[in-house]
Amino acid sequence: MSLISFGSRVFRSYYLHVLGRRGCSTAAFMPESAGFDGVSSRSALHEFSVSNSETFWAALARHRLSWMSPFHTVHDCDLSRGRIRWFEGGKLNVSVNCLDRHVQTCPEKVALIWEKDEPGSEVKVTYRQLLDMTCRLGNLLRRRGVKKGDCVTIYMPPCPLAVASMLACARIGAAHNVVFAGFSAESLSERIRDAQSSIVITVNQGVRGGKLTQLKKTVDTAVQSCPNVRHVFVSMRTENPVAMTERDVDMEEEMLKEDAVCEPAAMDSEDVLFMLYTSGSTGKPKGLVHTQAGYLLYAAVTHRYVFGYSDGDVFGCVADIGWITGHSYAVYGPLANGGTTVLFESTPVYPDPGRYWETVQRLKINQFYGAPTAIRLLLKYGDQWVQKYDRSSLKTLGTVGEPINTEAWQWYYSVVGGERCPVVDTWWQTETGGICIAPRPSEPDAEIIPGMAMRPFFGIKPVLMDTKGKVLTSNDANGALCIAQPWPGMARTIHNDHERFKETYCQQYPGYFSTGDGAHRSKEGYYQITGRLDDVINVSGHRIGTAEIEDVVNQCPDVAESAVVGYSHDIKGEGVYAFAVLKKSVEAEEGVLSKQLKDLVSQKIAKYASPDCIQFVERLPKTRSGKIMRRVLRKIVEGDTNGLGDLSTVDDPAVIQEIIQSHNKHFRKQ
Ligand code: AMP
Repeated sequence: MSLISFGSRVFRSYYLHVLGRRGCSTAAFMPESAGFDGVSSRSALHEFSVSNSETFWAALARHRLSWMSPFHTVHDCDLSRGRIRWFEGGKLNVSVNCLDRHVQTCPEKVALIWEKDEPGSEVKVTYRQLLDMTCRLGNLLRRRGVKKGDCVTIYMPPCPLAVASMLACARIGAAHNVVFAGFSAESLSERIRDAQSSIVITVNQGVRGGKLTQLKKTVDTAVQSCPNVRHVFVSMRTENPVAMTERDVDMEEEMLKEDAVCEPAAMDSEDVLFMLYTSGSTGKPKGLVHTQAGYLLYAAVTHRYVFGYSDGDVFGCVADIGWITGHSYAVYGPLANGGTTVLFESTPVYPDPGRYWETVQRLKINQFYGAPTAIRLLLKYGDQWVQKYDRSSLKTLGTVGEPINTEAWQWYYSVVGGERCPVVDTWWQTETGGICIAPRPSEPDAEIIPGMAMRPFFGIKPVLMDTKGKVLTSNDANGALCIAQPWPGMARTIHNDHERFKETYCQQYPGYFSTGDGAHRSKEGYYQITGRLDDVINVSGHRIGTAEIEDVVNQCPDVAESAVVGYSHDIKGEGVYAFAVLKKSVEAEEGVLSKQLKDLVSQKIAKYASPDCIQFVERLPKTRSGKIMRRVLRKIVEGDTNGLGDLSTVDDPAVIQEIIQSHNKHFRKQ
């Protein structure tokens, strides 16, 4: 097939040729580096990738993607205007890159392992089978009127048909808009309308933690206020029938009638691949737009190098496909690399807190990628749930989504990884498309400091800005984290609102991409994320990240997790208010523990950072993706319970009521 000009076979022979010629470890690590002048170490490779980003990314794009026609311009970007374009002139198809080229070389290799909610009932899908599903679904979408440039909304839990739906859109040139299947009907309909979708794909029911959720019913409610929706495709996750109308399409039945060959659309590098909604500082969610070639290349390269992924490994990213982590590291990165990727449908505590490690043992997972919130939760249940299972397959452990405190990091490293596996704390965002700062890649044995993302990825040049917008050049500095030059994986715009994109990301520090996060650069030059800038507290004129205080509070052996917020304080400007969840077995006297924690913070950071108030709570309010909702806690502390804002993403609203009641009872007057 002439379509596949650089399949993995060609890539492998290039790789061997380079190795034979150079025999040097950098070329073995990254074959393209053989063509980069003067690069003989991994740190030199990073420097080259930043100062010669055109040469670097062009070489990787040529060798790691299959092009229908080559690109003529590596990039054409002007960050201050929010103009970001990579690999223009090139044409490719993302589904061909994720499927066809691997089907050519290894059709029976397992592409997906669907770890269903019911433990021990995993389903394996080969590359050949996934291509078959994708093509049939692509043809069905086309038959139902979906055209290049349309956007299809996908409201499904992680499962092979959800991945096939994403890839089917890519195959026919439609964009996808995956909405996390835990969102309410209202949030779903807002996203369907904003994305102007005429087709929604869903399942009859979801199954998670042993419970059924009525996803099709939620879609029925949502589409009542979406007049553009012409069809709802319904696949059957359970055997329970659901009410179907003329508008609804029995997806599996209709797919069987379709041809298993589907001509891939030739897409321009900068055509839209998907949009994904995320919350901003305002109430209205924003649809971040990612395009074809740059996103795919960046997801593939970060997947390989941050996690040390090699051919034959089983990659276990337990994030839901409804979040960017699921997009980049459960689907696109692993599949572009011809890997085997796990789709995790369950929860970390179902049927018991050993679920992750039992899955690791059974599926022989080599890289495990999860969220700090889950690690902290599991830590509470004790080591025995981990030690029960064989984890010898594990090579790398990763975390993402929020800062990981030292205690959780240590537990992950020592108990889960048996001190054998590097832990990579990966910093990135929906906006960045893929990992931007992580301890690996680096020189093979380079140090990893607990709870620090540390090193920028290839092509990433982080800078810290002071409050006046000046670049901080020295180490041991705190500032607003920006990225100084464009990289292929970054979002291109906000759907229907390029002005908001420019204002939020490009104009705050003109010429730089502003991440909205704060960071510390250590004496050694390593980066540590200190939290969202809106989570920074200014106490008596001293800035302190809530994450820094939480890290110390969490080091107390009695504390399972905590959340710190600022509140207005008559004298200091802002005071520090900490919420702490105690471990299950703890019976300490709250007054004593409170004093201990305050002393600990004074001791570990500074007196000014010590919490003015500590409220012990059973649980913290979290989003469905596990992020602590500090914004809500701040409002409770301020006594503004009528203005809690958008609660559509809260996992369990009852938690908020519990905290308000105990706050009113004990703390209101403080
Ligand atoms: P999202 O776009 O939902 O993935 O959220 C991205 C945000 O999560 C970032 O802007 C950070 O505030 C936070 N985040 C992600 N990864 C990390 C990390 N490794 N350390 C600290 N914060 C993180």
